[in-house]
Amino acid sequence: MRLKYDPGDGPTFWEQIAHIPGYPSGERMPIRLMRFEPGALFKLGEVLREVGADPTQPVFIVTDPTPMQRSGESLKPLVLDVLSNDSWQAQPVEVTPDETGQVHTDMPRIQAVKSRLEHKSAVIALGSGTICDITKHACYLYEQETGKKLPFVVYQTANSVSAYTSNMAPTFVEGVKRTLPSRYPDALVCDLETLRDAPREMTAAGVGDLLAAFVSFPDWVLANRLGLDPGYSPLAQELMGPLDEIFLAVAPAIRSGSLDSMATLAKLIALGGLAMSLSHATTPMSAYEHVISHILDLLAESHNRPLTQHGSQVALASILGTAAYQHLLDELEPEEINLENCYPAPEQMQALVRETFLQVDPTGKAGEECWNDYRQKLEAWHAHKTEFDSFLKNWGSYRGQLKELTCPPERLITILRAVQAPETFGELQPPQSEDDVKFAFLTAPLMRKRFTLGDLLIFLQWDREKLWQQVKGLAIS
Ligand SMILES: [Zn+2]
Repeated sequence: MRLKYDPGDGPTFWEQIAHIPGYPSGERMPIRLMRFEPGALFKLGEVLREVGADPTQPVFIVTDPTPMQRSGESLKPLVLDVLSNDSWQAQPVEVTPDETGQVHTDMPRIQAVKSRLEHKSAVIALGSGTICDITKHACYLYEQETGKKLPFVVYQTANSVSAYTSNMAPTFVEGVKRTLPSRYPDALVCDLETLRDAPREMTAAGVGDLLAAFVSFPDWVLANRLGLDPGYSPLAQELMGPLDEIFLAVAPAIRSGSLDSMATLAKLIALGGLAMSLSHATTPMSAYEHVISHILDLLAESHNRPLTQHGSQVALASILGTAAYQHLLDELEPEEINLENCYPAPEQMQALVRETFLQVDPTGKAGEECWNDYRQKLEAWHAHKTEFDSFLKNWGSYRGQLKELTCPPERLITILRAVQAPETFGELQPPQSEDDVKFAFLTAPLMRKRFTLGDLLIFLQWDREKLWQQVKGLAIS
């Protein structure tokens, strides 16, 4: 499928998008090379040369222990062979899983990779989102420490998450997921056979992660109109295009694993990452739905359970988010809102945040970390009463803007079904219980400083218990 903005178009792509309102001035081709091709694996040496890697120096290949297949061959040994045959000194660096058997992005793992890097080396992240984030951030910290920017290539092994083109790294800090500033890769290699042969559930998750847009786009506009995020720009929406229409058209091909559809999905995922990077925030693709997912991850971490497939969890949270939007759009009666009741006292919210997160972290550290963030949001909310007053007075117009950006939850369900993604939290691996999802739905706004629909519902004193009962059936069996 032909996309309006095709990140595989090289300099032409960058020239086209530089004209979109909101494109940051002065950022010229932050990712030099993006290849979405069959057989791209065999051009890896060429890519290394193009990004300035030195063939007399080691190339560190960062991976996890998961075996991967490509056209019936074992992928990781194949990559090493291809590079050795091209006279590169490829050296594998294996990142170790934790006791749940998964690799997470955390400082000890980032430091372990960083300690292996050398002054003149080049680095390839050979894996999916987590390996990419760990490697990216290791290179970033190496550069901060030594002043040396190493050539860094991402070889994306699954169409699973919009992390590969991002210059930020979501990392566990004090048990809470935080997004740290990081760096771009110099090149992105999407070998279509590798993507086709990735586990199906990862591909479905990649679709799911992008469905966040139907909550995150309206959330961003909401925060902006309420005076809480001056950084809004339409860049992300313009870059991504009509995602629902695109997915409805391409889903059958994604399900059957056609190489062309793998390229389309990889490009959309790349655009999603760029939408965040170029907006200098994850805000365009991460709002209420992602915080719901973060809370579920936090619960899993606290019980030493493995995390679910990120994008699939996000997609289900997006179903809840879009459903909540439908209720807001249909039921908000501005004249019934008493403005003065919409501003809870800091002491009241501090107690609530602390008490809430004690349930997931009895040491209180997570609660403190969340309150630090939440406090800033609450202060801003109090400081921008005028905007909220105007929002209520002009609800008709704002309602129209939000409606444009969200969509009925049923459309997301249709897309998920078409790519055979999980349609309920109980179908995730491991399954998420109704109690945990409800906890996440209700407490997500307390976790971070970004304002979302979840916050508005709290400040409006919306009957969120009733809302949960109304929406849960869409994603809980
Ligand atoms: Zn995500």
